[in-house]
Amino acid sequence: MADSSFSLAIHHAASFIATVLRSNRKNTELEEAAICSVLTNAVEVQDSNGLALGIALYDSRFSWINHSCSPNSCYRFVNNTTSYHDDLAYPITIPHVTNTETLSNLELQEHVRTVRYGPKVIARSIKRIKSGEEITVSYIDLLQPTGLRQSDLWSKYRFMCNCGRCAASPPAYVDSVLEGVLVLKPEETTVDYHHGTTNKDEAVAKITDYIQEAIDDFLSDNIDPKTCCEKIDNVLHHGIQFKADSQPHCLQLHACHYVALNAYITLATAYRIRSIDSETGIVFDMSRISAAYSFFLACASHLLFFAEPCLAISAANFWKNAGESLLDLASKFPLERSVESDVKCTKCLILGTSNSHREIKEKSRQILSCVTDISQVIWSFLTRGCPYLQKFRSPVDFSLTRINGERKESIKDQTVNVLLLSFHCLLYADLLADLCYGEKSHLVS
Ligand SMILES: [Zn+2]
Ligand SMILES: [Zn+2]
Repeated sequence: MADSSFSLAIHHAASFIATVLRSNRKNTELEEAAICSVLTNAVEVQDSNGLALGIALYDSRFSWINHSCSPNSCYRFVNNTTSYHDDLAYPITIPHVTNTETLSNLELQEHVRTVRYGPKVIARSIKRIKSGEEITVSYIDLLQPTGLRQSDLWSKYRFMCNCGRCAASPPAYVDSVLEGVLVLKPEETTVDYHHGTTNKDEAVAKITDYIQEAIDDFLSDNIDPKTCCEKIDNVLHHGIQFKADSQPHCLQLHACHYVALNAYITLATAYRIRSIDSETGIVFDMSRISAAYSFFLACASHLLFFAEPCLAISAANFWKNAGESLLDLASKFPLERSVESDVKCTKCLILGTSNSHREIKEKSRQILSCVTDISQVIWSFLTRGCPYLQKFRSPVDFSLTRINGERKESIKDQTVNVLLLSFHCLLYADLLADLCYGEKSHLVS
């Protein structure tokens, strides 16, 4: 934090705060220390849906925990039951202070009493921690490759991370996948998109910029959901052409490339919006493709989580979203509600409730085995009309063999399978959330 323009900005902000507080002091060291504390130790507080509520400073037991891109702990917020007003679970007002240096003890006690306390923060281990080993959490989104994590940490916290994941050479598997691309011969693809790029690095920059721009345009309402879906689906499916040794090649993003992951999140949302806004005829299809992208994202997060256990938190959220999206699709089938109550998986229902390491592994294995079996049956149905997702024979391992035709199933069988898949996604999300946050997690239903 040592550059002079930064110090000057802190000094100006401190003077401004002193003026607002009507402090008589000429010296603004206290305000400067407070700003530095916020800049280095504040954390973004989120509600149970992951929405940012603002930033807050916690005491040293939490704020001094250092960052790692492969942390051994995670944290979450819970509403503080000692709050004076249960409906105001986070600080929204700071009492007007004339000058804290001149407050008497009694006045100070009254002042503190009227401050409303925010959510509590709970840190919990997600890996075995050896005696004497430092406890670490993550300050940033861990589904980013090394370069992006480094620039994120530098711009927000002004330090370069040298954790095991960042320092790994060659890069950790999860980081190579997050930036992974596939180079194919044009004849193996149907590529007919984005000509004119001359080398591989340029092609990677062009395809990632193109998708990111489409995502940003959608988020800022510059393009409608339909245009967004067409643009991103098309480039994910066809990739981009480039030349190497004067020969044409086709470059596509790995299914777990970080830009592809962002694309699936956007596409799941865009198709869901289309399912709400659309004319009746395509409501079901839009909902179906939204569920397919949500489920594909959950499967991608599964692969990454197996390579890097700290990604369990992201994976839990994606599996939960996939389960809810499939449940929404099931509700759109033209069938009686009674089907819903008939759907059970006997294999998973008999799993024990103990949380021993062995039991968790057994539960996880069984649930994923069911997910693989069910998805083999309904993947072609879920992805109908979506060439990019149809390329993957199995969403669980991303094998690229094309599907030979679609299985013929009755609407009732399709409904049951969608409900079964939804049930397993939610079950797996519960298991992962429980691992990260314990039984009282907001994610555990
Ligand atoms: Zn790192
Ligand atoms: Zn099962």
